[in-house]
Amino acid sequence: TLRPLIAGNWKMNGLRKDLDEIAAIRDGGVKVGGAVEIVVCPPFTLLAAAASLCEGSGIGIGGQDCHPEKKGAFTGDIAPPMLKDCGATYVILGHSERRLIHGESDALIRDKIKGVQAAGLAAILCVGETAEQRSTGQALAVVGEQLAGSIPRDVSIEGLVIAYEPVWAIGTGLTPTAEDIAEMHGFIRAKLEESWPGKAATVRLLYGGSVKPSNAAKLLAIANVDGALIGGASLIAADFLAIAAAC
Ligand code: 13P
Repeated sequence: TLRPLIAGNWKMNGLRKDLDEIAAIRDGGVKVGGAVEIVVCPPFTLLAAAASLCEGSGIGIGGQDCHPEKKGAFTGDIAPPMLKDCGATYVILGHSERRLIHGESDALIRDKIKGVQAAGLAAILCVGETAEQRSTGQALAVVGEQLAGSIPRDVSIEGLVIAYEPVWAIGTGLTPTAEDIAEMHGFIRAKLEESWPGKAATVRLLYGGSVKPSNAAKLLAIANVDGALIGGASLIAADFLAIAAAC
């Protein structure tokens, strides 16, 4: 059985004073113990400080995006080895806010996964349909296409994490039914098994979108849900830790 992963995506939130919240997550997370893996993904500006706060605690640190290349003339971008150098071990890639606001394509995300793996970091690949895609019956097809387009074929998927985040569930308080989540996670597992026989069972599948302390236990008990990716509720240490404790 897979060790559940609870990852917090701080998005564009957090000033240096909020490092106190990361220290609180660290202190509380250590108590949750080794049963659950906890990772916090703060903005770039806090990465190095967060990583030194969490050093040796077992709490991991991740980036929220990166450039595919190791270095070069890409003003404003951050390379995978830079994240690693700051103490990150994970990187979120292909979040719907990157896909929709920044126009990221599956092909770009695939190149980013390659760059991240080459740097020795683990990717948390996000996939998920919009409200319109779900209401018109295209949710599975859309996610199938995202998986096929954004996971490099020539690399190992061991260590890869996939987060299913329906766009309409992010920051809205809405969540899919348990049946719909089970269907999607089972579908993702089966798709991975088709392309990487015998390896799909090693990939943790997270659910993301309006996960709160009040619904975490129910969401985390669904078949093929191996953890969660948390936005808003990860900014408050007590809420984030309550979700981790619900695993
Ligand atoms: P919320 O938990 O705020 O809905 O955000 C989910 C998310 O986008 C995590 O990546």
